[in-house]
Amino acid sequence: MSETVLVYRGKEIAAYGFGDPHPFGTDRHDVFQAELDAAGLGDSIDFGHPRPARVDELALFHTAAYIDKVSRLSAEGRGWLDYGDTPAVKGIYEAASNVVGAVLCAVDEVMHGNYKRSFIPIAGLHHATRDRASGFCVFNDCGIAAEYLRKSYGLKRIAYVDIDAHHGDGVFYAFEDDPDLIFADIHEDGRYLYPGTGHAHETGTGRAKGTKLNVPIATGADDAEFHRAWQRVEDYIDDQAPEFIIMQCGADSLEGDPITHLCWTEEAHAHAAAALCRLAGKHCGGRIVGTGGGGYNRRNVARAWTRVVQSFVETE
Ligand SMILES: [Zn+2]
Repeated sequence: MSETVLVYRGKEIAAYGFGDPHPFGTDRHDVFQAELDAAGLGDSIDFGHPRPARVDELALFHTAAYIDKVSRLSAEGRGWLDYGDTPAVKGIYEAASNVVGAVLCAVDEVMHGNYKRSFIPIAGLHHATRDRASGFCVFNDCGIAAEYLRKSYGLKRIAYVDIDAHHGDGVFYAFEDDPDLIFADIHEDGRYLYPGTGHAHETGTGRAKGTKLNVPIATGADDAEFHRAWQRVEDYIDDQAPEFIIMQCGADSLEGDPITHLCWTEEAHAHAAAALCRLAGKHCGGRIVGTGGGGYNRRNVARAWTRVVQSFVETE
């Protein structure tokens, strides 16, 4: 048995990036697609093409003033969207809107029952906050998707699971006081890596206290340490019984990434994706959407994301 998985591709999302010598280049899309093609998954994959998100969809998460600012600076094509990581390259508004649109298309296809599992490689821009860009991330597609699932489909309990080397701070702080946004994030210890957050004691605030799981990992950690941390995530998500799972599959947690210091292999990504498919089957009617997230070693990006899609195809 295999599951037909919907993978988004196309120049619209490939265009999201910042050009040489920025680590988030626009070549990440094609290196993944080449590896995915070589994996020979054939009829088990359908390809989807994105549409741009509308302003009212961006505004489900972001402030109107921030959306206006991105639009204006993108048209000018100069300056920065944050304090020095995320340049305002020309057309970044359109590219970022297409990334969000791809994720919302995936959500629609899954919610309409056309597919159970979908993957968007250029997405998972988890550092963007409601009112500013941060860490290469312009619009927070995962945060928008969570709000969209609530507004358009009336879902309440949405799980966000993040295995990128960096803490998903843009998602975490936006929902820190929201007990129904189920958040689990394994990341390199913030004492050694941007954005410096995601401490174990950060479990949510107010009514949401105790509803978030942050698992910081020591620099240099390998697959064995990943598996120990992952079991906690799996148990937590199982216990929380969400209605939908959004996975952020950042490949910068693999050994050899130029800007981080974790040492997992792509088997970590394969394992996490398979486990979340099983949990989605148990709690969510099978519904899971995966997003690529970070990853700046091109070989790692290609392999980790391909292994995620393989798990989406193969997991019973
Ligand atoms: Zn990252």
